[in-house]
Amino acid sequence: MGTIYKLKCHHCGHEFERRYGIGILGRGTLYCDHCGKSQAVDFSCGWDPLPQCECGGTFDADAMGLCPQCQTLMNPEDIDPDAPAVMWD
Ligand SMILES: [Zn+2]
Ligand SMILES: [Zn+2]
Repeated sequence: MGTIYKLKCHHCGHEFERRYGIGILGRGTLYCDHCGKSQAVDFSCGWDPLPQCECGGTFDADAMGLCPQCQTLMNPEDIDPDAPAVMWD
């Protein structure tokens, strides 16, 4: 089960939507908890250990990723509390 959140960047004010979590088919995108780099994952053939980022961080389902406009690392406070989270899969 994944969730789509609407985020508003605390740095530049850019608003965007992003999918988080792994879908029912085992596919999704995770973000590094340190540098925010994205990593597509596919667990449809079994659950592998989560990949390690080249920066030393970990790709984590709770990591928020980067703002697509200014590349600032997003945090949970950037989720728009007025926008309902949409479940997918
Ligand atoms: Zn931004
Ligand atoms: Zn990283």
